[in-house]
Amino acid sequence: MTIFEKIIAREIPADIVHEDDLCIAFRDVSPQAPTHILIIPKKVIPRIGETTGDDQSLLGHLLLTAGNIATDLGVNSTDSGFRLVINNGKNGGESVPHLHIHLLADRPLEWPPG
Ligand code: AMP
Repeated sequence: MTIFEKIIAREIPADIVHEDDLCIAFRDVSPQAPTHILIIPKKVIPRIGETTGDDQSLLGHLLLTAGNIATDLGVNSTDSGFRLVINNGKNGGESVPHLHIHLLADRPLEWPPG
């Protein structure tokens, strides 16, 4: 069981900002920006590269939820802004093998990413 499954099961604490039937979102324990949220499906999917057509609506839901959270946190404007990131595999920088979308905001973010 990954650490994110333990958060879903409430076996370890997290600063949860959103929960619904399909997903949960909480603050990253090691934030890389003043606002750093992780949006994760409750369904156990290791990474985006292992999703299938069966996950189409779930993936849409995760993105819509990320946008809604950005709105709730007051960063969904062209003046402020935010970035969504999905790390996949070793070169992608993945460290927890449970699909998650990073939502980063409240500081200017460089491009290209490191
Ligand atoms: P990634 O490197 O894309 O797999 O992202 C995993 C993220 O999970 C990292 O940003 C970690 O800081 C974060 N993380 C690991 N453990 C926890 C935890 N217990 N609560 C919140 N975030 C965590």
